Amino acid sequence: MKSRSERFAPACSAGLQSCLRRRACRPKVSAGRALLPLLLVLALCVGCRGAGSPILVLISFDGWRWDYIDRAKVPNLQTLAARGVRAEGLIPSFPSNTFPSHYTLVTGLYPEHHGIVSNSMVDPVIGERFSMSADTANDPRWWGGEPLWATAIRQGRRAASMFWPGSEAPIGGVRPTYWRPFDDAVPNAERVRQVLEWLALPADERPSFITVYFSDVDSAGHDFGPESTEVLDAAGRLDQALGDLIAGIDTLQLLETTSVIVVSDHGMSQLDEDRIILLDDYLDLSTVDVIDWTPTLGLALRSGSVDAVYQSLKGKHPALAVYKREDTPWHLHYSRHPRIPPIVGLADEGWRITSRERLASERAAGRKPGGAHGYDPAYKSMHGLFVAAGPRLRRGAVLPAFESVNVYELMCWLLGLEPARNDGDRDATREFLVP
Ligand code: AMP
Ligand code: ZN
Ligand code: ZN
Repeated sequence: MKSRSERFAPACSAGLQSCLRRRACRPKVSAGRALLPLLLVLALCVGCRGAGSPILVLISFDGWRWDYIDRAKVPNLQTLAARGVRAEGLIPSFPSNTFPSHYTLVTGLYPEHHGIVSNSMVDPVIGERFSMSADTANDPRWWGGEPLWATAIRQGRRAASMFWPGSEAPIGGVRPTYWRPFDDAVPNAERVRQVLEWLALPADERPSFITVYFSDVDSAGHDFGPESTEVLDAAGRLDQALGDLIAGIDTLQLLETTSVIVVSDHGMSQLDEDRIILLDDYLDLSTVDVIDWTPTLGLALRSGSVDAVYQSLKGKHPALAVYKREDTPWHLHYSRHPRIPPIVGLADEGWRITSRERLASERAAGRKPGGAHGYDPAYKSMHGLFVAAGPRLRRGAVLPAFESVNVYELMCWLLGLEPARNDGDRDATREFLVP
């Protein structure tokens, strides 16, 4: 007996767009084939909906380093770049980690202004430790600024989130109109299907702004390193999801009014068994609270003075720079928030900071050093991805790397929204737009 997807293949070649047809006819079961029933229903729905206001879909490929687009087989991303704009890299805010960086993308604020200063942090007033788990990530007290979904809703639009850091917390009392609780076990095909279902809503219920998040490339980068074939395979899988999403938007006849932006939150650097900084070689660990280990070290005090701890680390290891909070380098924009620990350490690219005890348990568990991020965004290895296409964007332009803090302003412009106060500059992306 034929499988469900095999039975759908002939119908597809008769009616849907050629790009979709090509994918659905491949022997391997893909997200596209899984989505075919939905796409057929969507195709029938097209006639009953009106065009409406501009739409923006913001896609995150977590941990996609700037160079993967040219190293992996990613025809859908290449096609998107050819009909839109591509930057040679997207420079993340510091620290180049998932939560701070994603929240910078949707607020246009540096972490010292939006308050998500790390994936792991302590707030002196709240008196709790923040982690990426639901308990604290859904608590609005941690999230400052105004994310784009709130900007859109405040100005009378609808917004939806198929995952994004911050999307589950009622920030300023506002959550996306439609959203789903984070669960990385949700298959990529289901994430695409959900976005298309939201886009298929009647014009007066349809979101103008949608986020969708994929973690495969980051996970492969951590486990196998940025030069691995596993990373390139993961990139290929995400490219398939991108192709299915764009085919679905096309089927809905929304491509002409929809901008698609594909970004990543940071790049990835290769770790090495020999590049290890052992903190307990310099410091009695019982005197400090290690809020963040590596590659950005965050230390608070249990006893003693900031100056004593600072002196015991400063200049002691050639691959570790140490600062008091108020003295961190200007380009990091990382001084002005009480959640930034009083002592901040930065490991050089490819180095990691740990203790003898932690290293022993890692080795006992057989963990091999793969990839890491979180380093100074000035390192090229930390630069991410930016590709965008849409009615207001130039076609086939390749532009220099730019800072992710500017993406919020660009998105507001594409949606015709008045931006909230932010650290970005509209001029940074003016070249991306049709004159
Ligand atoms: P990082 O440690 O910076 O590499 O974080 C990457 C991880 O963040 C991914 O593997 C996801 O599981 C997790 N993550 C991404 N988005 C969310 C979210 N909205 N809520 C909770 N965890 C998330
Ligand atoms: Zn990330
Ligand atoms: Zn990561």
